[in-house]
Amino acid sequence: MQVKGSFQLMKSLNRSVILNKIRTDGPISRAELAKSTKLTPPTVSSIVKELLETGMIMESSQGASKGGRKPTMLVINASNFYIIGLDVGPTLLKSVLTDLNGTLVHQHEIPIPLPTSNQELLELMRDAVQNLLDTEEKEQDKIIGIGVGMHGVVDVQEGVSLFAPNLQLRDVPIKSYLEEVFHIHVVVENDARAMALGELWFGHGNGANNIVTVNLGRGIGAGIIINGELFHGENSIAGEIGHMTIDIRGPKCSCGNYGCLQTLASGPAISERAAKEIAIGKQSLLQEMVDDNLEEIGGRLIHEAAKKGDQLSIDILSEAGMFLGIGLTNLIHTLNPTRIIIGGGVSQAGEFILDSIKTAIQKRGLTNSAKNTEVLLSELGAHATALGAVSLILVEMFSVAKTE
Ligand SMILES: [Zn+2]
Repeated sequence: MQVKGSFQLMKSLNRSVILNKIRTDGPISRAELAKSTKLTPPTVSSIVKELLETGMIMESSQGASKGGRKPTMLVINASNFYIIGLDVGPTLLKSVLTDLNGTLVHQHEIPIPLPTSNQELLELMRDAVQNLLDTEEKEQDKIIGIGVGMHGVVDVQEGVSLFAPNLQLRDVPIKSYLEEVFHIHVVVENDARAMALGELWFGHGNGANNIVTVNLGRGIGAGIIINGELFHGENSIAGEIGHMTIDIRGPKCSCGNYGCLQTLASGPAISERAAKEIAIGKQSLLQEMVDDNLEEIGGRLIHEAAKKGDQLSIDILSEAGMFLGIGLTNLIHTLNPTRIIIGGGVSQAGEFILDSIKTAIQKRGLTNSAKNTEVLLSELGAHATALGAVSLILVEMFSVAKTE
């Protein structure tokens, strides 16, 4: 049993090495594979044969001739398999079906009716997956896995949402429930972390090994990638930068502390700030836009007003950017990432916050390289987290196991 086990593992380890090489370097020939992986040609041949049979890779005839016969080249058969990604946010459930390149085939979005219960949320997720399976009419065995990006604290090992503050839910057994219904492999991760992985695979990752992505929306969370891998910390708290203290005399936060980044730069913080300023007499286009119902002021409206030149909206967004820049400088001094990528709802107003983020970092960075840390807006848009959820599955499929 032991022998068989190690044999199987060895085989699958080599299999991942080859699959990953074809992904990153394809089209690639068998001979090149053997050379670059240091596996013997017979081993490469037998694994390639197996991968061809599963339909995971295919032969392509565009090999460059170096004199003599053109070698047969191998590429990933990206459109032969599919992955489902779910993004469970505070108010919306987004779902996507993509091929192995992350190309969107289908996408849906449904509101999460509040208040909700564990069972209701699970059933909503089940319906979202079923919906994608129905629209595509793919054979279920072409779906490699379901990735779930869930806001809040997640137990990645068990695939359980431990605490989803915005839905007020605890201990939602996402993985076991979906696996039982669909018999498809499920991976669950915190949404900001899933987003970071999505950037690494499909976005601004660009081969950088140390990146931080910031999910800027109702809350603020960061996904940290160190040496190419997601960093969780001992108890999955790593990246909770929304509760980094920026101003000890600042507003009270939902966590009980004062002046957390989230109380100064999140979507709700920005909206509250605008409403308060107008209530004490500041002039703003917003007042007209909401017909004097100040509680209707939201991030999207503030962005709209800023685009129309409304000074109060421009100032508020720029101030939020400054607070973010202070938080990000702390992060730069702690982790020294190659690049920081900003995504999430508030990042839609990126043109009004990015400059003040950069100015704050310029002012505070310890060294020139710290001051000039690259800060970019995500280009994955509204699907960043769902695509990140997709990459949770890709990472498992392609990454090379490190354990013996
Ligand atoms: Zn807090």
